[in-house]
Amino acid sequence: MNRPTVNRGQLVVLSGPSGVGKSTIALRLRSETGIAYAVSATTRTERPNDDKGKVYEYIDQAAFYRRLDADQFLEYAQVHGHYYGTPVHPTLDDLGDGKDVLLDIDVQGALQVRYQYPDALLIFILPPDEPTLLKRLEGRGRDSKDDMTRRFRAAKREIHMAKGSRAFDHMVINDDLDRAVSEIRRIIVNKKAGAL
Ligand code: 5GP
Repeated sequence: MNRPTVNRGQLVVLSGPSGVGKSTIALRLRSETGIAYAVSATTRTERPNDDKGKVYEYIDQAAFYRRLDADQFLEYAQVHGHYYGTPVHPTLDDLGDGKDVLLDIDVQGALQVRYQYPDALLIFILPPDEPTLLKRLEGRGRDSKDDMTRRFRAAKREIHMAKGSRAFDHMVINDDLDRAVSEIRRIIVNKKAGAL
């Protein structure tokens, strides 16, 4: 379904492969700018060492399907064998109230947002290089070796898909957290200035 463009708050999508640091960047943006943040629903179970930046509502598959049928997700995707979705509310309510809203989602979800909300600002976070990404995935110490290999392969696919899609407005390299956060803040300010 093609939803109407929301003109008030700015919808900002941060996407990129697992391990690239998007949840950490999202956390910094939230604390530095006060941007609203959409809490995703997921069918995966909670991990004790989950990213601190990413908060989920954990639900079972039946509940996920019910919400999907009721059109309660702004976008959703199956990632690494689990469902993830952004709730329509409060996301649209916040945008309607003039608040900017940040989503931290995978590439498939970002492409759905691009289609439904042409004015959304889509930012893709890239690792400086592949060995650095692999090291970051290993450094998180929360995934099994198989899981890590799967995530690394998926990351390479996602980067390829993102570059090929031309759907993203900006590609930001997370070579240094402070630098990447400043760059993204500048991108958001410029987009809003252009929208006035
Ligand atoms: P993780 O299980 O590592 O927290 O997340 C796996 C992937 O799912 C990450 O790339 C994350 O950004 C993505 N993700 C988290 N929430 C959502 C969501 O609501 N929608 C979509 N499409 N992807 C999500």
